[in-house]
Amino acid sequence: MSDAVPRDLLAFDREHLWHPYTSMTAPAQVRAVVGASGARLWLSESGSPADAVNVVDGMSSWWSAIHGYRHPRLDQAVKDQVDRFSHVMFGGLTHSPAVTLGRALVELTPEGLDKVFLADSGSVAVEVALKMVLQHQRGVGRPERRRFLTVRGGYHGDTFHPMSVTDPDGGMHGMWRGVLPEHVFAPRPPAYDAGPAEVEAWATAFRAVADEHAHELAGIVVEPLLQGAGGMWPYPVACLQVMREVADELGMLLVFDEIATGFGRTGHLFVSELVRPDVLCLGKALTGGYLTLAAVVTTEAVGRGISASESGVLMHGPTFMGNPLACAVAVESLRVLTRTDWRATVARIGGRLATGLASLRDLPGVKDVRTIGAVGVVQLEQRVDVKAATDAAIAAGAWLRPFNDLVYAMPPYVCTDTEVDTIVAAIHAATRASLEATA
Ligand SMILES: *Cc1c(COP(=O)(O)O)cnc(C)c1O
Repeated sequence: MSDAVPRDLLAFDREHLWHPYTSMTAPAQVRAVVGASGARLWLSESGSPADAVNVVDGMSSWWSAIHGYRHPRLDQAVKDQVDRFSHVMFGGLTHSPAVTLGRALVELTPEGLDKVFLADSGSVAVEVALKMVLQHQRGVGRPERRRFLTVRGGYHGDTFHPMSVTDPDGGMHGMWRGVLPEHVFAPRPPAYDAGPAEVEAWATAFRAVADEHAHELAGIVVEPLLQGAGGMWPYPVACLQVMREVADELGMLLVFDEIATGFGRTGHLFVSELVRPDVLCLGKALTGGYLTLAAVVTTEAVGRGISASESGVLMHGPTFMGNPLACAVAVESLRVLTRTDWRATVARIGGRLATGLASLRDLPGVKDVRTIGAVGVVQLEQRVDVKAATDAAIAAGAWLRPFNDLVYAMPPYVCTDTEVDTIVAAIHAATRASLEATA
């Protein structure tokens, strides 16, 4: 319960700090975190630890803190690296945290994904992945291949090129039409429980869009198996097989944005184990939620294509590339993950979410309840009343951050059964509170 945030700091925050996706002139309420440990946060509405409430974090700090907070081994990894050095440039220099992380990523990701670029955030990783694809196409003599094919309902980040492959309607970046490069959108894949006929119909539509634009398409970019911030939408693996086939037939590279799905969240360490992409983006849980870091992993063939382009090099190199603190904690996070039975953990959490949320399906105003891996989603008929839902969730003992028409959870893997049940109770409370507030 250290790190008290006095009242005047909350007032200063309100006056001067932008929070994600908020207004400067009419900011939404924020709560002060005055402590965090395991799967739990202490939240204070006044800023004083004295009235802080202890809640289970149902969001894993936007899907990143898979091992929870103040994990002894992750804490130690950062401290040890601080005592060596915190940062050095990566241009012309290297260090053991980056090399050890690179080795772990080459080993853990599917066969053939062997060439690693360390980026500073998920959005930057997507920028780099798209740049790799474009440079590869130039290198293999197809400079006219300059556009990307994606599906509706996706989300790939908030910088400009990732925004341009994020769903333009209903998504977060609709106002930028005319400013962003225009890419090609195929229909959203069908629901995860769709039958073969529905998948086939989608495949036909996807192929038609790809065929029409084949001459100008450099690659396909999608979130595999589960679309996250675009609507928490799981879809059949058969759709990924179709994308792989289409990419091969039409000379495109396939990019999987696993920034949200990576590291076990869907029940697979990486969805790329089911269908192999040419370029894989990782982020969010890479450092166990400790520091900002992302990675783009690709094949030898793509690397060769890039090297054959005009510049001969991959033209990207952020100031904080390969930050040693971030790499050191990522290495330890991967060790913690792979040396525990994360598969059983994800199944246990997912099973409890599925059982606990099932009864909400019959509640008037609820459109759908769906789960995949350690993700539980309740979709309402209307937009969620975020304030009513958040207040109710906290009163029920959990931190949730609903968006659009969704109340959902992606719990840290360290949640006990009781903590998962608290999250389930909070989703029930948030759903009911939102339905009452919007009735
Ligand atoms: C969060 C997210 C991003 C963006 O990552 P940042 O680190 O926020 O820039 C990109 N793609 C997907 C699928 C994400 O979930």
